[in-house]
Formats: sequence, C-alpha cells, structure tokens
Amino acid sequence: MARTDTVEGTVGADPDSAVDHDVLVVGGGVAGLSAATFLSRYGLDTLVLARGKSAIGQCAHLENYLGFPAGVSPERFLALGREQATFEGATVREELVERVATVDLAEHGVDDGGTSDPPASRGGFAVDSDEGQYVVRYVLAATAYDGDMFEPLEDRLDTDAEYGAAETEHGRTTVTGLYAAGWMTDETVHQAVVNAGHGARAATSLARDDLDARFWPGVGDNLVDWVVYEDRYAVDDEWEADTRDWFDREVVGDATVDDATVEAAYDVVRSEYVARMIDAEEAAERDRAGQRRLLDHVDDDVIREYLDGDDEPAGC
Ligand SMILES: Cc1cc2nc3c(=O)[nH]c(=O)nc-3n(C[C@H](O)[C@H](O)[C@H](O)COP(=O)(O)OP(=O)(O)OC[C@H]3O[C@@H](n4cnc5c(N)ncnc54)[C@H](O)[C@@H]3O)c2cc1C
Repeated sequence: MARTDTVEGTVGADPDSAVDHDVLVVGGGVAGLSAATFLSRYGLDTLVLARGKSAIGQCAHLENYLGFPAGVSPERFLALGREQATFEGATVREELVERVATVDLAEHGVDDGGTSDPPASRGGFAVDSDEGQYVVRYVLAATAYDGDMFEPLEDRLDTDAEYGAAETEHGRTTVTGLYAAGWMTDETVHQAVVNAGHGARAATSLARDDLDARFWPGVGDNLVDWVVYEDRYAVDDEWEADTRDWFDREVVGDATVDDATVEAAYDVVRSEYVARMIDAEEAAERDRAGQRRLLDHVDDDVIREYLDGDDEPAGC
C-alpha cells in the first residue's frame, strides 16, 4: 500500500473495476522504476511489466549517480530501485509487452473512464503481454530500445528518427494518456540519473494531467509530493482562511465548475501540503527504517568487515 496517496477513487480502491490498473509502466529499468515510484505515491494503482535487461547492466560499476559516494554495482542499484517502487505500492511483474493499443473504456464496461469520482477521461489502453491482456487508463513506456509495441499507434505517435521511439514533451507523447520516459525518448541523454529524472518528470506530467481531468485544467500544477516538518504550515484558522483565499483566487480563478468539484479539488490541494507533515520523532523513525532498508542491500561480509574496523578496500 502506498505511503502517500493524493487521489481517491482509483482502480486499486475498487476491486470490481473493469479496468485492471490505473497505469501500466512498461520497462523496469532506471526510468520505469523511477516513474512507478512517483505514480504510486500519487496514489494510482501501478503495474510495472519488465522483461529483459536494463542497459545499466552493461555498466561495470555505476559511479556518477548522486547518492553513492564510491559508486554502486548496477545490480544493487536496480534492486534498490525495484524495492523502492514496490515499497511505495507498485507491483512489478516479469512479462514482455507486445502490443499497446487505445480502447474506449466504455466498451469495457466503464462508464466514467475509470472509477474516479469525479469522472476522468474515457480513453484507455489494452496492453498485450506474453501472459495476457491488461486494460488500463494510462501507459507509461520506458523500454530504452524497444518501440515495436506501439505499432497500433504509429499513425498518431510522433517518433524521433535519430533518438528514439517517442517524441515527448515533459514525458507526454502525442497520444493522449500515453507517456514515455528515458532512453526511448528524444528528451534525455545517456546518464542513468538523467533518465531517472525523466521517469519522475513523465510520471509527474501524468499525475498532473490526471488531476486536471478529474477537476479542471491547472489543478495539477499544485502537485508537490513532499514530506515536511509539522510546523511548516500553521494549519490554524488564519492559515485555513488564507489558503482557501489563495485557492479561490489562483486555482479556481475563472474556471466554471460546480461547488462540489471545487470542494473536492480543494481537499486534494490542501492535503498536498498538510497530509504529509510529520514530527521530528517520525522523521527520525523514517530515517532509521530507511537505513535498515539500505542495509538489506549490503553484503553481510561487508557489514562484518565494517564493524570489525577492517581497512577499506582500495578505491574507497
Ligand atoms: C555500456 C553502457 C554503460 C553505461 N554506463 C553508465 C554509467 O556508467 N553511468 C550512467 O549514468 N549511465 C550509464 N549507462 C546508461 C544507462 O544504462 C541508461 O542511462 C539507463 O539504463 C537508461 O534507462 P532507461 O530506463 O531508459 O532504460 P533501461 O534501464 O535499459 O530500461 C529499459 C527496461 O525496459 C525493459 N523492456 C524493454 N522492452 C520491453 C518490453 N517489450 N516489455 C517489457 N519490458 C521491456 C528492459 O528489460 C528494461 O528493464 C550505460 C549504458 C551502457 C549501454
């Protein structure tokens, strides 16, 4: 279960939904796992299908990814990424995606394009893998070299002859609801950290578009996904009044929407700020839990050597 959910009424919250997942991420490499982490934190029911090796497996030792002072093995790096995406709520399965086509979700028994309330778009995708078919609201592809699965969309999907299978703008492709990230797009360069960032960017575009579709254009701009200390926002009467005033002025503005939609959007935007406030004790607990998760990925003999005060290997 995701630790931080922004939206309600997703597929994951409705086991009877005719849609299998809100979003299907194709590719479990650097960009795909990064995207899945952000999408799960936003609250979408996220399935990652990945078959085959990530390009980073060809690197002998990853030394230019921020946060690993003496580098990290590509295998350890990907295992950490998979654990983070699943910790945040994503499901990762080893399946080969063969075909991605658009569908009208109404033909799959969905009245409102998902189970969202208020309704989102009716467009969706049927994704064929070597194990079966999934009907989903969104697809985010991060397959590095492989764009064959997009053949049913080729008339509508702009591709870049030099750089890859999809032309993107902040991860958005020319097909509504289809996002692409990492090496398969024209927006990145070679390094893993850039592709992780692009995965995050594409996921953020998707989440923002989802909020806009649920409410009205512009609401999604307020997605922040950050965890702050409890005294960051006063959350007293004055803060509530000022926040509501700002929301009515800047976010509602000239939008013509009914009162119920305004209230639902306000709840989401307000909770972006206050729902993730934690106190210093909780922050310290999360830090300890985070360190233990890291230790799961450190070899036992290295931990023993470290505790015994053995000399560091050359190169540290
Ligand atoms: C030789 C070499 C050395 C490198 N060294 C470094 C380095 O030192 N530092 C650095 O920062 N970067 C390095 N890189 C670059 C790094 O590997 C890439 O930046 C990064 O892997 C790109 O991320 P990605 O998610 O776009 O693609 P990938 O990480 O390759 O992920 C693609 C994923 O999609 C999956 N996939 C593909 N098709 C399908 C399908 N049809 N169905 C399901 N899954 C599918 C693959 O199995 C894989 O999991 C190196 C690359 C190479 C080739």
